[in-house]
Amino acid sequence: MLCGGRQADPDINEQAIAEGKIDAAVIGRQAIAAPDYANCVVNGKPEEIRTCIGCNQGCIWGYFCTGRVGCAVNPEVGHEAEKIEKAQTLKKVVIVGGGIAGMEAARVARLSGHAVTLYEKSDVLGGNLIPAGAHDFKVEIGGLTDYYRTQMILLDVDVRLNSEATPDILKAADADVVILAAGSVPVMPRSIDGIDKAVSGVDALLGRKPVGDKVIIVGGGLVGCEIAYGYAKEGKDVTVVEALDQILSLGNVPGMNKAMLLDGFAYYGVKIMTGTKLKRVVDSGAVVALPDGTEQTLEADTVILSVGYRPVPSMKEQLADCAARVIEIGDGRQVGNVLTCVRDAYEAVKNL
Ligand SMILES: Cc1cc2nc3c(=O)[nH]c(=O)nc-3n(C[C@H](O)[C@H](O)[C@H](O)COP(=O)(O)OP(=O)(O)OC[C@H]3O[C@@H](n4cnc5c(N)ncnc54)[C@H](O)[C@@H]3O)c2cc1C
Repeated sequence: MLCGGRQADPDINEQAIAEGKIDAAVIGRQAIAAPDYANCVVNGKPEEIRTCIGCNQGCIWGYFCTGRVGCAVNPEVGHEAEKIEKAQTLKKVVIVGGGIAGMEAARVARLSGHAVTLYEKSDVLGGNLIPAGAHDFKVEIGGLTDYYRTQMILLDVDVRLNSEATPDILKAADADVVILAAGSVPVMPRSIDGIDKAVSGVDALLGRKPVGDKVIIVGGGLVGCEIAYGYAKEGKDVTVVEALDQILSLGNVPGMNKAMLLDGFAYYGVKIMTGTKLKRVVDSGAVVALPDGTEQTLEADTVILSVGYRPVPSMKEQLADCAARVIEIGDGRQVGNVLTCVRDAYEAVKNL
């Protein structure tokens, strides 16, 4: 048996190894994300494998763009000489936010020996990783979320769910370091008439709002296009409305991801309207301005907005007189992606 790539399911491998059925395993990107992959499988600890999310951002695209291989989920790739050391002075660290930035910060702080308390206002860890992994073609993101949740338990992080941190709570926490990792929320422009009839991509993906069979996605960036692809794959009739001349034109979208999405759009019949601006949302769908300036009403059951994210209001100024050192990381500092959040957290915490 030869197994490899994203088919290298640890449960299957473990069973196959036990039964002596594997002669060779070929592991690509997953070995970059988790160099200890094989040991985790052989030792029967698949839950400790840091899941490759197949994003290409750090590895293949990183190499194409910079000549260096990195990894979105493994911040040590390309920095192997900078291993996490036990700290000389142990500190009390309080983290606000249980998204990937907060959990990576907690992981690194615990490996350095610090005491860590993590406040998460919702009832679950993961933050925006949860909607990000909602579609079936992005299940690996769910695997990464599970990896971090397991690390919080194994590393004995004091996780407080349903606990919203406020400046008063943080000042009273007697911490040496406060890490703000409070994340971002979808942009929903109030200036657009009828915006309340539209649904944010996050609310749609989390099932907080129903999504009908005929869908308009406003915003043809990477997140909007992935939402469009996911719903088209489910059999929905999908139109992407993008104000710029091209979709997927902002940010450094890996070429192979772009090609996959464009192929998928052609296959599932996703309609793309570029140079087209949302004017208002109405009961029957969306009124848009076409490139020639004329208006058209596009019929739809659901209008989903995916026009970007903004950091939640920062608590940093309110903590100016806090005795603790205050550090801000992740989307709450600057909206990015898994790669930027993990790297941000790792860099901020490894030498506290
Ligand atoms: C739909 C979608 C798809 C995406 N797809 C990808 C992708 O494929 N690849 C990729 O690299 N990136 C993707 N991203 C981006 C990526 O998910 C985010 O950059 C990343 O998850 C942000 O992590 P974070 O920890 O900074 O913030 P968040 O995930 O926003 O987490 C912040 C957490 O803080 C909590 N919180 C806020 N305030 C408080 C408080 N006062 N007290 C306690 N808790 C608080 C929140 O409840 C939340 O859980 C996607 C994002 C979205 C929305």
